[in-house]
Amino acid sequence: MSQIGIIGLPNVGKSTVFTALTKQDSQIGSFPFSTTEIHTAFGEVVDSRLTEAAKIENSQKIVYPKIQLYDLPLNPNKPVFTANVFAKLREMDGFAVVLRDFESSSVDWGDVPQSINEQLEKIKLELIVADLEILNNKEDRLIKESKALSEKPKELLIVNKSIDILESGGELKNYNWDTQELSFFRDLALLTLKPKVYLINTEEEGINNKEKISEEGEVIVTSAKIEQELSELDSSEENDMRKQYSVEESLLSSLLNSIYKELNLISFFTVGDKESRAWTIPINTKIPEASGKIHSDMEKGFIKAEVVGIDDFIEGNGWEGLKNSIKIRLEGKEYIVRDGDVVIIRFSK
Ligand code: GDP
Repeated sequence: MSQIGIIGLPNVGKSTVFTALTKQDSQIGSFPFSTTEIHTAFGEVVDSRLTEAAKIENSQKIVYPKIQLYDLPLNPNKPVFTANVFAKLREMDGFAVVLRDFESSSVDWGDVPQSINEQLEKIKLELIVADLEILNNKEDRLIKESKALSEKPKELLIVNKSIDILESGGELKNYNWDTQELSFFRDLALLTLKPKVYLINTEEEGINNKEKISEEGEVIVTSAKIEQELSELDSSEENDMRKQYSVEESLLSSLLNSIYKELNLISFFTVGDKESRAWTIPINTKIPEASGKIHSDMEKGFIKAEVVGIDDFIEGNGWEGLKNSIKIRLEGKEYIVRDGDVVIIRFSK
């Protein structure tokens, strides 16, 4: 499961976002620097297609896609992130960067710049400095180790290139690295290499950001306060309120979609009477490997799979309704799973 860290400057609404996403109270307060501990919880995205498919099959249980979210605390003094938090940040698969775009006279701005791009620069700088520290140490070690060699090792060249990028204010994620470089980076867990989704937290009245974000990538404009209020309602009340506010898609669902895009992930489904479930895989995964997510025996003994898109599955009224239909395809080992595929894996034990 993907682990996503919610980060941002103090009082920008991180805990409010966390609460809205996980329905857990995470010390929301208008006093500055209120967050002191690392909170974590699952965010579960109710996918209406899976609900519908499960209904057709009378599933006893539904397991929706989940992400694990972390509300990462801040240090009242500089630097913004404490050593503890940095260690946690390194374990994350990606970040949701919260940027404050709401006014509110009751919430102190402190040292937080009112421009979202300036907030972003501050956070970027923290991440760059942290990565530089790691890379400079690595560089020292590699220089020592390679003294006797006539040619600079490839690793040192990668480190030099990365340091140059960071020193000129760039993030490593914006460069195309080859597989050798990426595998070298893996152990270093560099923060500017991790994918980011930007959450602009706007005014409740008129969810519309004032300033355009200078960064490329997935941007979500939301009101964390509204989302938090909506997360406390039951689902029919929530749907009515969403229509009223014109925010049909929940923050959790748009965040999950954006994170999946940034991390190159997709979902496929298994649907049956016992359980209907979403499985997460990287794009371009072949079906034997994807079925290994469900059970390792399925990967080892993979024979073939029956595959149908979830919209066709619902329209065709499930497995029974689709019996003998050409909509159900028989796919072999080379098939690359698509987002929304419903599968039955045939395998030998
Ligand atoms: P954190 O320090 O980044 O975790 O910020 P919090 O989530 O604790 O929020 C700080 C304060 O800002 C709280 O009083 C929240 O109620 C308030 N706040 C958060 N999001 C919004 C918003 O979208 N609109 C308004 N008006 N207030 C918000």
